[in-house]
Amino acid sequence: MNKVFEEITELSLKRALFYPSAEIYGSLAGFYDYGSIGFRVKKKLEDYWRWFFLKSLGENFHEIQPSELMPEPVFKASGHLEHFEDPVVECSKCGFVERADQLLEGFLHMVFEGLSSEQLDELIKKHGLKCPECGGEFKRVFSKSLMFGFETRKGMVYLRPETAQGVFVDFKREFKANREKLPLGLAVVGKAFRNEISPRQALFRTKEFTQAELQVFFDPEDEKHEKFSTIEKEKARVVLASERDKGEQLLTAGELAGRGYFEKYVYYLFMMKKFYESLGLKELRFYEKNEEERAFYNKFHFDCEVFFKSFDSFREVAGLHYRTDYDLKNHEEHSKQSMEIFANGRKFVPHVIELSFGIDRTFFALLDKGFRKDGKRTWLSLPRQVAPFVAGVYPLVSKDGLDEKARQVYELLASEFDVFYDEKGSIGKRYARADEIGVLYGITIDYDTMKDGTVTIRDRDSTKQERVSISEIGQRIKRVFDSLYY
Ligand code: ATP
Repeated sequence: MNKVFEEITELSLKRALFYPSAEIYGSLAGFYDYGSIGFRVKKKLEDYWRWFFLKSLGENFHEIQPSELMPEPVFKASGHLEHFEDPVVECSKCGFVERADQLLEGFLHMVFEGLSSEQLDELIKKHGLKCPECGGEFKRVFSKSLMFGFETRKGMVYLRPETAQGVFVDFKREFKANREKLPLGLAVVGKAFRNEISPRQALFRTKEFTQAELQVFFDPEDEKHEKFSTIEKEKARVVLASERDKGEQLLTAGELAGRGYFEKYVYYLFMMKKFYESLGLKELRFYEKNEEERAFYNKFHFDCEVFFKSFDSFREVAGLHYRTDYDLKNHEEHSKQSMEIFANGRKFVPHVIELSFGIDRTFFALLDKGFRKDGKRTWLSLPRQVAPFVAGVYPLVSKDGLDEKARQVYELLASEFDVFYDEKGSIGKRYARADEIGVLYGITIDYDTMKDGTVTIRDRDSTKQERVSISEIGQRIKRVFDSLYY
């Protein structure tokens, strides 16, 4: 974390992007609220994700909304109750707790994910690590479940730690309702809950967060993708688990497919890349997890990592997981309900590719990328898909009929676009406030407007102003959003 991180969090507090939850009571680590501006951006990001993955891909993909709380058997079957835990160190003197692998990472600047509690314990002893708060000795490393559970009269229920399980338990019903066709994509955009040991870095690791996940159910004998040829020659930066010594490599989709990752999987990897690039997050790479690091259910696992100025490093924002038939088979066994379907002339249990996006981390990546400071001016260069408002409408001064005219312009635009009206304070201050929250344009009504019916349109990034007649403003704005959605 550095100065950029501090400046972004400060701006977020000041401009109601996000802030600690229940602040007046001191707030709890790992819980954040989105404010009036941040929520607009977050919602637009979610809607853009929906448009990109459910509509623009044009496949048999649908969104559902399963329960956030589900009964114990669901998570027994999924393996979360047994395996979804983190190794923890606790100071014997002051009670400070931290994830053991992250404690080691902080001291030794290497990744220790996937090591057992015993291995982590040995490393902590070997390097003589002491409590960073009080210098005390650590107790033995132990495992702690990340699941939030509640007792009810009918037994335990748990908050979902990922949105995916709701999709797996609903799969059969959705398959029947959707023409019994594969591939079938089922998406959920919603909250997930994890009792993280050390929530930190603002929205980056919280206990309650939003995921946008898409489970693609497919026939494992049909690994090809019909649109693969459209991306075959495109390149992505990847770090392969089997070739970590080579570091980052620039490989084409065709080359990745040649190394054993099947076409469908590679196709979605490139769709993830395209999604982030279309939001201006172009400095990204795919980091493959090895067998120790990846979750127990994944056969292939690449993290999609974006470069953050705030952390001066690449950080995971999303994951692409080949979950095979692991989840459906386990739910079949535990629920005694068959998960087999009949398709392509045979009976089988479909396999699943999961595209799992952290909305909060992506939101933070957009702030990190868009944050700009130039002398006295601070602005958020957010992409147009997620800017909280398209434009602010301002009378230069609130007299001589300028305010009335400005209100008319506002009314004209408000039925079609996200615009706001503001007449308070100097025009410079109004521009500055709008820049800080990433508003794309400033539309100002001045004395010339009263004479010739033109206004100025000011661009957030360049601050250049153009004169446009009132009747043309709508067309001008529409042109910006013209080429599809992005
Ligand atoms: P990490 O290794 O950072 O704990 P993960 O690999 O366990 O994350 P996944 O289970 O793959 O994460 O979840 C998919 C996405 O959900 C992640 O890429 C991330 O963007 C988001 N996510 C996971 N845990 C958190 C969290 N505690 N706070 C905010 N976002 C999270």
